[in-house]
Amino acid sequence: MVAVQTIVGDITEQAVDAIVNAANETLLGGGGVDGAIHRAAGPELLVECRTLGGCPTGAARITGGYRLAADYVIHTVGPVWQGGHDGEPGQLGDCYRNSLTLAERHNVQSIAFPAISTGVYGYPLERAATIAVAAIRSFAFDHVQTVRFVCFDETTCKVYEALLARA
Ligand code: ADP
Repeated sequence: MVAVQTIVGDITEQAVDAIVNAANETLLGGGGVDGAIHRAAGPELLVECRTLGGCPTGAARITGGYRLAADYVIHTVGPVWQGGHDGEPGQLGDCYRNSLTLAERHNVQSIAFPAISTGVYGYPLERAATIAVAAIRSFAFDHVQTVRFVCFDETTCKVYEALLARA
C-alpha cells in the first residue's frame, strides 16, 4: 500500500527521491513552483531542460535534481483552466499518471507533488485536488511507496486532507 501524505511546505525542500514540477510546455522555466525549483536546483537544470525540446500538456519528462535533495525532477505540464469542458480534467489526471509512470521507471520510492495547475493556470483547487487524489488512488504502484502532496498554504492542505479522509 502506498502512503499518501499531505504537508504544508516548499516542494524544493522535500527530501524525497523525486519532486514534480508544474512546468509549462517550453520546460524553460517560469514563475511559481517552476521558478522556485529552477532557483533551488541551479542553472544545470535549465541546461538539461533545454535538451528535452518541450513537453505537451498532460505529459511528463524527467531530469536530474542537481542541487536539490531530490535525485529527480519530473516536469509535467498541467492544463490552463478554460472552464472545465476543454479536456482539462483528463489532462490534469494524465499529469499525475504520467509522472508516476516515469517515477516507477526510475525506481523512485518517494515522490512529492505540488497542486498542479492551481496557481497561474487557474484550475479550481477543490476540483484539481479531487483529480489528484483519484489519480493516485487508482494508480498501480510498484516501487513507489510514498506520495506527498506539498501544499503552499494551510487552506490547500485542508482540501487534500478532507478528500483523503473520504473512503
Ligand atoms: P500552475 O502554472 O500549474 O498553476 P503554479 O506554480 O502557478 O503552477 O502553482 C501551482 C501550485 O503550486 C499553487 O498552488 C502554488 O501556490 C503552489 N506553489 C508555488 N510555489 C510552491 C513551492 N515552492 N512549493 C510548493 N508549492 C508551491
